[in-house]
Amino acid sequence: MTTIATHLQQVQAQLQRACASAQRPAQAVQLLAVSKTQGADAVRAAYAAGQTRFGENYIQEAVEKMALLTDLPLEWHCIGPVQSNKTRLVAQYFDWVHSVDRLKIAQRLSEQRPRDKAPLQVCIQVNVDASASKAGVLPGEVVELARQLVQLPHLRLRGLMTLPAPAPNAAAAQAVHRQARELFDALNAQGIALDTLSMGMSADLDAAVACGSTMVRVGTAIFGARAAKGTVADQA
Ligand SMILES: *Cc1c(COP(=O)(O)O)cnc(C)c1O
Repeated sequence: MTTIATHLQQVQAQLQRACASAQRPAQAVQLLAVSKTQGADAVRAAYAAGQTRFGENYIQEAVEKMALLTDLPLEWHCIGPVQSNKTRLVAQYFDWVHSVDRLKIAQRLSEQRPRDKAPLQVCIQVNVDASASKAGVLPGEVVELARQLVQLPHLRLRGLMTLPAPAPNAAAAQAVHRQARELFDALNAQGIALDTLSMGMSADLDAAVACGSTMVRVGTAIFGARAAKGTVADQA
């Protein structure tokens, strides 16, 4: 087995234990493998070990990688910031975008989504902990943006995504994740049907699953530590 296959098995096992201790079914949480900065060979190794969903942050890098992998039935998720000049590429090549936080970007993604493809699946990125990072809408602004997004014909609003600053301990991580979960429940209660809560990474997977995450985004624990952006870091 490759190192990546072994790591994937370990992460899947951790996910199952986290679901069991949260009394949630094992299938309640999907694993998104974050392959940013990893080469196409690393994605191939993960696919060979059963992984089909991959997350990427840097659009140009992702599109180049996808071109090397068109023979595989992969699902691509954009989890990084999307600038206006990148919306066309994102609308063309990705299946999901987790990082929508502005109406203008959402409108462009909808307009530019090729008509022969399924609607682009999107999550609103929420800045739950009002962290130093400016990405994401504030919790109080989510309902309005959600109501605007559901009007866009070539997008399908699926849920919320969070990327909190690293927490000092599990209790602090859970407190932030719980806020996201409450927001998710509040939107559903207001008739905005959401089924995806994209929350939790390598370091806070257990806390996120305990608080109701439905999709964890895991990079390091599967592919190993990342080299600096832009260099080849194929660990397969
Ligand atoms: C890099 C990244 C991840 C994965 O982080 P790891 O700590 O490597 O698991 C998840 N989500 C986003 C938005 C990221 O940028």
